[in-house]
Amino acid sequence: MAWRGSGFESQLVHLIKMKDCIFCKIIKKEIPAEIIYENKTTLAFLDINPVNPGHVLVIPKKHFSTLEETPQETLIEVIKTTKKLVPAINQSVNPIGINLGLNNKKGAGQLVPHIHLHIMPRFEGDKHKLLEGKKTQPEQLKQVADKIKTFL
Ligand code: AMP
Ligand code: ZN
Repeated sequence: MAWRGSGFESQLVHLIKMKDCIFCKIIKKEIPAEIIYENKTTLAFLDINPVNPGHVLVIPKKHFSTLEETPQETLIEVIKTTKKLVPAINQSVNPIGINLGLNNKKGAGQLVPHIHLHIMPRFEGDKHKLLEGKKTQPEQLKQVADKIKTFL
């Protein structure tokens, strides 16, 4: 068909993905959520299964799945909203710190394919587990750094 491989096709695929997306439904207020903030480009709401009280998800209002797909300006908007929310989260739940998290793609544990930044308040002794670092030799670090740099 003429529209195969065209911009029209990719737009169609985009629309179909949005239709099934749970976060797009929250944006359209089709399903409930504890929305704490929204502006023209982003929305922030409580995670339904928080790792700790005050666990917030910040999402762009436009549907993008991954970091690779999301335009730079959109990511900046997500960070701006996060920056605005952090002091309010600090004041409301009084954590000892905050972790930001972004699971990019299924392989990294991304369950909802609409990009989202987790704001996770931390509390003394909460036992919230983070990834553990592996002891690595400087030469191995250099090898990986050099390889990444060749693609920049
Ligand atoms: P991720 O594994 O990074 O994709 O995280 C998805 C997050 O979305 C999880 O922490 C879920 O608890 C959260 N979540 C899924 N559905 C909803 C919903 N309807 N309202 C609020 N949070 C949700
Ligand atoms: Zn979506």
